[in-house]
Amino acid sequence: MSQKKGKIIAISAPSGTGKTTIIKNILGNMPELVFSISATTRKKRYNENEGVDYFFLTEEEFLQKIEKNEFVEWEKTYDYYYGTFKSFLAENVENGKNTILEIDVKGALNIKSIFSDAALIFIKPPSIEVLINRLEQRKTESEEDLKKRIDRVKMELEIENKFDYVVVNNELSKAVCEVEEIIKKVINKE
Ligand code: 5GP
Repeated sequence: MSQKKGKIIAISAPSGTGKTTIIKNILGNMPELVFSISATTRKKRYNENEGVDYFFLTEEEFLQKIEKNEFVEWEKTYDYYYGTFKSFLAENVENGKNTILEIDVKGALNIKSIFSDAALIFIKPPSIEVLINRLEQRKTESEEDLKKRIDRVKMELEIENKFDYVVVNNELSKAVCEVEEIIKKVINKE
């Protein structure tokens, strides 16, 4: 009998929705899940680590990897490149590992067009006002980058209805539980 393939769970959310915190909590609670570490040309934040949160590349390195067809999907968002490694994802799926992607909305739809049984989860803020407030408080972006992130929110919220599941992050622990329940359902589905 051939081995059951791993499921792909793509999680998207507007910037500042708390998606990274939710994913970190879930990976802590469900250590059997694999996190797909993306490549990016964005600068490393003070609380991030190379090869843990992202592989931080120069634009030249990233473009070379596009040339070599190393990404299953990639996007340019807020002037920076972000991409999912093809070999990493394929290997995990083949080995039956359930893999979480933290990815922008367009990347998630691209993944679904390639892996039709990927589950797409959209995490949404309680309101745009709350979101803008969270983004301003976290102080990880320059004013210019912050404005770009806020400008993008409307487009992201419009794509929400293309996702399989939508979770509102009103209260972190509740949102973590809800996403975990969805992931368990997806994993156990034949
Ligand atoms: P951040 O700079 O806040 O870490 O991420 C910015 C956006 O890029 C977020 O929406 C995040 O989910 C997305 N992102 C992270 N990795 C990837 C990836 O591999 N591919 C795509 N398309 N988007 C990604």
